[in-house]
Amino acid sequence: MTKPFAIAIHGGAGTILREQMSESLKQEILDALTRSVQAGADILGSGGDALEAAVAAVKVMEDSPHFNAGKGSVLTHCEMVEMDASVMHGASMNAGAVAGVRHIRNPVELAKDVMLDSDHVMLIGEGAETFAFERGYDYTEQDYFFTERRYEQLQSMKQKGLFALSESKYPDDKKYGTVGAVALDSHGNLAAATSTGGVTNKKYGRVGDTAIIGAGTYAENDNVAVSTTGMGEYFIRKTVAGDVAARMRYLQEDVRTASESVIQGELKDMGGEGGLIAIDANGEVHFAMNSTGMYRASIDVSGDLCVKIYADE
Ligand code: ASP
Repeated sequence: MTKPFAIAIHGGAGTILREQMSESLKQEILDALTRSVQAGADILGSGGDALEAAVAAVKVMEDSPHFNAGKGSVLTHCEMVEMDASVMHGASMNAGAVAGVRHIRNPVELAKDVMLDSDHVMLIGEGAETFAFERGYDYTEQDYFFTERRYEQLQSMKQKGLFALSESKYPDDKKYGTVGAVALDSHGNLAAATSTGGVTNKKYGRVGDTAIIGAGTYAENDNVAVSTTGMGEYFIRKTVAGDVAARMRYLQEDVRTASESVIQGELKDMGGEGGLIAIDANGEVHFAMNSTGMYRASIDVSGDLCVKIYADE
């Protein structure tokens, strides 16, 4: 008998308000989420590795303009795209991350190569790109990532002299649109992958939780895999993904209890808004959020597909 496998993904915890979401836009987002989770499940269904599945799922969202990762990433103060990504494999506890990359079409793929093909865990900026180009990655022009929507959003932020964390005329974009995936494969391996453009109007080489193992991404076999989305400054200080794993390991909390304890408890108390996806060693998936919504989808151990946007769904 084949062992169970399951996958969950998120497309960010900042969702477009119901009243501003057209039916056609909603359908496009639901379709992209479905394609993403299905891409990962196809790999798991043919006996593939959890990290391969998580990376494949994230790449679909990086390639979609609807999410804040890869194409469609938010813009920095200098009107550039600067992306962060990380991956972790629960069997080896090996991990890879990149931060501040500007010309890599799929940063999550590069994070995986940092894990597999370097002696390091995290590479940043030009160094990370040199590592990529030495391995045959294409140089992707900034134009590829650029979307009109993100440009307008940046102008609005600049006019107000604010960063993305404050009010915006784009209620969806004032928050977060990072993408991520967690998976359990049929060999019992857990893995997590996360990718982002960060926050609008960021300056000075700001890096968020998405690039930080233990904050935005964590995976540990026989325990849990976690990918987060939200205000990185809080998620880093609360080491959110690692904290969920630690609660499960030391307190024997289940995946739901541990995830909710962190997201609705200490993180929220600190003022941190956002959410996470987590999957345990049995393939039990949990979505936790203290925001009004989080783009999310899963294919569970029974093969059932679930795709949702708002917190009250
Ligand atoms: N966590 C990301 C960051 O702070 C933002 C997001 O989740 O969209 O860079």
